Amino acid sequence: MRTRMLKYGCQNIDAEDIDAVVEALQSEMLTQGPSTIEFEDKFANYVHSTYAVSVNSATSALHLAYLAIGLSPGDRLWTSPNTFVATSNAAIMCGATVDFVDVDPNDGNICVEALESKLKLAKRLDTLPKIVVPVHFTGLPCDMKRIAQLSDEYGFRVIEDASHATGARYADNDDEELVGNCKYSDATIFSFHPVKIFTTGEGGMVTTNSDEIARKVTLLRSHGVTRDAAEMSTDKHGGWQYDQIALGYNYRMTDIQAALGISQLSKLDSFLQKRKSIAESYTLHLANNVHVKVPNTKDCMHSAWHLFVVQVAPEKRKNIYDQLVESKIGVNVHYKPVHTNSYYRNLGFKSGDYPISENLYDTMITLPIHTKMEKEDVKYVCRTLNDAVNAK
Ligand SMILES: *Cc1c(COP(=O)(O)O)cnc(C)c1O
Repeated sequence: MRTRMLKYGCQNIDAEDIDAVVEALQSEMLTQGPSTIEFEDKFANYVHSTYAVSVNSATSALHLAYLAIGLSPGDRLWTSPNTFVATSNAAIMCGATVDFVDVDPNDGNICVEALESKLKLAKRLDTLPKIVVPVHFTGLPCDMKRIAQLSDEYGFRVIEDASHATGARYADNDDEELVGNCKYSDATIFSFHPVKIFTTGEGGMVTTNSDEIARKVTLLRSHGVTRDAAEMSTDKHGGWQYDQIALGYNYRMTDIQAALGISQLSKLDSFLQKRKSIAESYTLHLANNVHVKVPNTKDCMHSAWHLFVVQVAPEKRKNIYDQLVESKIGVNVHYKPVHTNSYYRNLGFKSGDYPISENLYDTMITLPIHTKMEKEDVKYVCRTLNDAVNAK
């Protein structure tokens, strides 16, 4: 029996990371200095995007990406209910109306067929969305090629929520196509919260190939204030001059966080390798249990494996969950469908609106997966899970 809880997600900070942060603390600029620029350049270079703009969280990244596209009151944004509330909350912060598209029961990602039929209907009713946000659930990319085709056909914009998918690729056979290259979207957002693929404490990034989106996100993350004379409507009198040209926020990433981000990014490939090996190990040790449905690892090798989600019989889920927690395994459930939260119920959503997401929620358990797990930990989780599933 373990004495300490095995967490479902956990950061991996080593001496090099700590040195990088200490160096940043001793430098001249604590925020928006050289480390921020270097982190952005290196991140853009890693995912093959033209621009990367850092912010203080993925929630801020979503908010600014939506604003940069012009999401306003009267506009609609669609995403899937199987996500963290931030994806849709950020649209409500823009004054927009949120609606959802149900997921594919096989992987929890937005169901492209459901998207297409909802678009067809919306076209007839003149209620098409301005933005659709595919969420790469667990780090497995959505079917972006088809979503991009639908975007051409129906004229909506696409922002990818890649909070789970730093370092993921769009297909197994394509080493070049990294999530965030924005080949299929207007912008992609990432999260560097400690449970995610790598961390800056708190932090986020917007990647894009659009000059306009990059410029707007940069402007809005810092109060809407510019020092660029070409952007000012007032006369430039001297070097002290700035002008607020839009209503912005303080969503800046600090140089302390960026220094940690640079150091963590250099380990991303090894983090991904470790996650993949844990996923393979889980698959192997759970393969013989017909009562546990594991993700299809064979077809998901390009996933970033942020989460390892298994499915069990809904009537047994609570007991299994409790038994795992009792055995010091920090399991979790991702996600309570967004529309079933009280806030969204008050907006008019109700149970039954998105049955596939709701059914998934009743069966899913997130097993621990992070880079500090040992092989023995994986075996312990599998043994405990197999016992719990087989218990009467
Ligand atoms: C974590 C997460 C977010 C929010 O990220 P923060 O950096 O904590 O703001 C948004 N969307 C999804 C899908 C997430 O998992």
